[in-house]
Amino acid sequence: MASPVADPRNEGALRRDVALANRILERFGLSNAFGHASARIPGTGTFYFPTRRSPGFADENRLLVLDTEGRIVSGEGTPNSELWIHARIYAARPEVGGVVHAHPPACICLTQIGQPHRVVHNQGGAFHEGVPEFERIGLIRTRELGDLLAHRLGARVAVMMRGHGITTALPEVRAATVAACMLEESAALQLRMLAAAGGDAGKIRAYTPEEALSLSDQISPRVVDRAWEYYAAAADRMPLGAATGGGRT
Ligand SMILES: [Zn+2]
Repeated sequence: MASPVADPRNEGALRRDVALANRILERFGLSNAFGHASARIPGTGTFYFPTRRSPGFADENRLLVLDTEGRIVSGEGTPNSELWIHARIYAARPEVGGVVHAHPPACICLTQIGQPHRVVHNQGGAFHEGVPEFERIGLIRTRELGDLLAHRLGARVAVMMRGHGITTALPEVRAATVAACMLEESAALQLRMLAAAGGDAGKIRAYTPEEALSLSDQISPRVVDRAWEYYAAAADRMPLGAATGGGRT
């Protein structure tokens, strides 16, 4: 059976999704100069990846095609240096079709006060299996570090990276992007709850595992479609740098 992207309309649609996913990360304050989203070309070990610029500049016509060994298959330009995050997750997880890496401030704050992510609101149900932490600081610029991060992520939706950011991985790039937005929202709420509780994490009424599981549909295609419609439309109406001046935390 031919790959879905043999149809140029599908290729164009996936390229547009990748570019838009990157712009969403920047417009919504999950990343500014750094961060990136990618999508696997269906049925292959290759993926669309932006060139080495802010995700806010991502252009569907300038995406690179990389493989899981970090090689450039096609396209012109230099890839973002943390390409190994994407390459090695696609290598480890055949079912993953979209990977997002960003540096969202609330998630970084959680890692640096020793608080694991907890499910504290409904959308947090997307992370009912838990969000592991990758403790090693610094950028993921080698194949080996990419493998270590992929191993820490395991089969889960997201991993937090101490003092650095987050990575999400799901079957579609739209879902991975929505998950990144939900995780930052969840972390921001958790920080506010912690502050309101005077720093006493025990006062936060985090959902029980059973409650969190009951909300696991918060990353279902139906929910993702609705969230993507909003994020995509809003991102297209927001200027570059919209999130940097608002004091988003
Ligand atoms: Zn990074």
